[in-house]
Amino acid sequence: MIKKGMRRQIVLHYILVVFLALLLVEVIFLIVIRTYYYDSIYTRITTQLNQAEYFYRVTSRDSPISLQELLRSFELKDTELQVLTLKGDMITSSTGFQPDRTITTSDVPEAVGGGIGRWVGRQPGTNENVMAVSKVLQIHGRDSYVLRYVTSVEGVNADLFNVTLISVSVGIAVLAVVAAFSFGLANSIIKPLNNITAVSAQMAKGKFNARIKGDYLYEIGELASTLNYLAEEIVRSNQIKDDFISSISHELRTPLTSIKGWSETLISGGYDPEETKLGMSIISKESDRLIGLVEEILDFSKLHQNEMKLSIGIVGVKELLQEIILNLWAKAEKKSIRLVLEAEEGIYVRGDANRLKQVFLNLTDNAVKFSHEGSVIMLSARRADEEKAEIVVQDSGIGISQDHLNRVKDRFFQVDSLNGGTGLGLAISQQLVELHGGTMEIESELGKGTRVTVYLQLAEPSPEVETMGQESLPMPEENHDREEGNT
Ligand code: ADP
Repeated sequence: MIKKGMRRQIVLHYILVVFLALLLVEVIFLIVIRTYYYDSIYTRITTQLNQAEYFYRVTSRDSPISLQELLRSFELKDTELQVLTLKGDMITSSTGFQPDRTITTSDVPEAVGGGIGRWVGRQPGTNENVMAVSKVLQIHGRDSYVLRYVTSVEGVNADLFNVTLISVSVGIAVLAVVAAFSFGLANSIIKPLNNITAVSAQMAKGKFNARIKGDYLYEIGELASTLNYLAEEIVRSNQIKDDFISSISHELRTPLTSIKGWSETLISGGYDPEETKLGMSIISKESDRLIGLVEEILDFSKLHQNEMKLSIGIVGVKELLQEIILNLWAKAEKKSIRLVLEAEEGIYVRGDANRLKQVFLNLTDNAVKFSHEGSVIMLSARRADEEKAEIVVQDSGIGISQDHLNRVKDRFFQVDSLNGGTGLGLAISQQLVELHGGTMEIESELGKGTRVTVYLQLAEPSPEVETMGQESLPMPEENHDREEGNT
């Protein structure tokens, strides 16, 4: 017995369906065969009856006809011919045996009623299966008799039994083949599924290097490769998380070491005000770095849990980019990088000014971080169409390989973890842009540079709008020089 499960279901369903179909076909086949056999006997007899009727209608004779003559003329081989009165009393029979009996089977009244009576059943006395066919015969328009042929159907029934046996054997053979086939089919599904279940159980226990081996077809093949892909992704994201933890620990340790070192030095005392000021400013700078790091992680977790709330207003894009340049000017200056702004006037977008600033700070900070000394970073803004503003941050720095380009927006991904950072910047920027109903695209070529394009919904400014940086910004002299006019 097959144990419970899909295999048994498949085998049982197949067998049941084929069994029912075979049963139907065989029953119909046997009914047709039986009808054919019986009808051919019936046709043989009715032809004879019709001939007798025709004969006594067309031939004329004066003297009464002897019934023995009738029996002789119209008897059929292996068939008893009886002559009955219209009431069914037997007058004579071709067997010569004429018991004083009355025939009460249904064929006689049918014949008297004007048709051809037919009856199949067991012959009283002999208990033999017979067919009786009767018809009323009027001899030369005078006397009417019932002419009744009785023939045994035992031989036909024996033939039918043999045919039934053969067709049942064929049916059983077909069922056996179907059972074997369905068992094979069920195995071809169940075995891979069992294998996949076993491997997934290993994965569930944390063994993510387990893989489903075997070349499975169709949906099962897809399932196997999806699970293998899932395991690879888990391994990859675990690796990314491990890298993140090690890089974040490194990122946290560096400022903490510096803070601790300077605070201990200052506690030990005896330093002049200049040195104390230097120490305090380093502690303050490193604390800011730590706060920035922690905020990035918090933002990410808020975005991840859909808890980020935007305070939407109308933001002037040119002013926003000016503020970004202002913020990163000092950092760019250290690498002699020029930050160039090329923005159309009067572009306004709907959004949260602080969050949009965070996005472009991150993109420009990346551009500065990954640009060569003395290069140029271009920040530009224009109306892409009637509805969208296109804001581009373009550098000519180290660029990103095509392989890595697909993954830079993944959280925690960094091409080189020694660069500092968390690998969260682009993931956060992307999600913030999407929260604003915009899109962010990154194009890059290794060694040539990177271009990040952000599309945001345009907005009409209104008098009470919050337009970032609309009050005049305290731009450093150098930065003014590097504005539009300088490009
Ligand atoms: P991070 O905090 O590490 O900068 P990001 O998500 O902002 O994280 O960036 C992920 C990675 O993408 C970076 O580590 C860097 O390898 C690559 N990347 C991002 N921007 C640039 C760029 N402008 N030029 C070259 N590589 C970049």
